[in-house]
Amino acid sequence: MQEISKLLRENGLKVTPQRLAIYNMLMNTDKHPSAETIYKELVVDNPSISLATVYKTLDSFKSSGLVSELNVGDNCARYDAVTKSHSHIVCTCCGRVEDIKFDIFNNISEKAAEKTDYKILYEQLIFYGLCPECIKKQND
Ligand code: ZN
Ligand code: MN
Repeated sequence: MQEISKLLRENGLKVTPQRLAIYNMLMNTDKHPSAETIYKELVVDNPSISLATVYKTLDSFKSSGLVSELNVGDNCARYDAVTKSHSHIVCTCCGRVEDIKFDIFNNISEKAAEKTDYKILYEQLIFYGLCPECIKKQND
């Protein structure tokens, strides 16, 4: 939590127990939770937290570049403490969102910039499919 306090202050954010809890949760998950999911998990140990606070906090984290927001098309934003550009894969059956951790996409922005003469600001690469667990369930 010391580290997180420091990070919040460095980014001009006041340190509050709610902000610490939310960032800590995001830092320790690779599940890309929505605001609702974050709220439901945190309210168990932090009864004073509200969904509105979670939304507000995520907004300020986003503006400060501490989290990235991911829109996978299910009308509910997901949040990721990994802000370095990376690709995602989404299961259209159970809704899980995972990172794609291999390097075929390295420098994809540079390549796009080269071909289009655009200055690329960010990129979002999302694949959709069925996860191994959902495929297994369908076959059972
Ligand atoms: Zn699935
Ligand atoms: Mn991610």
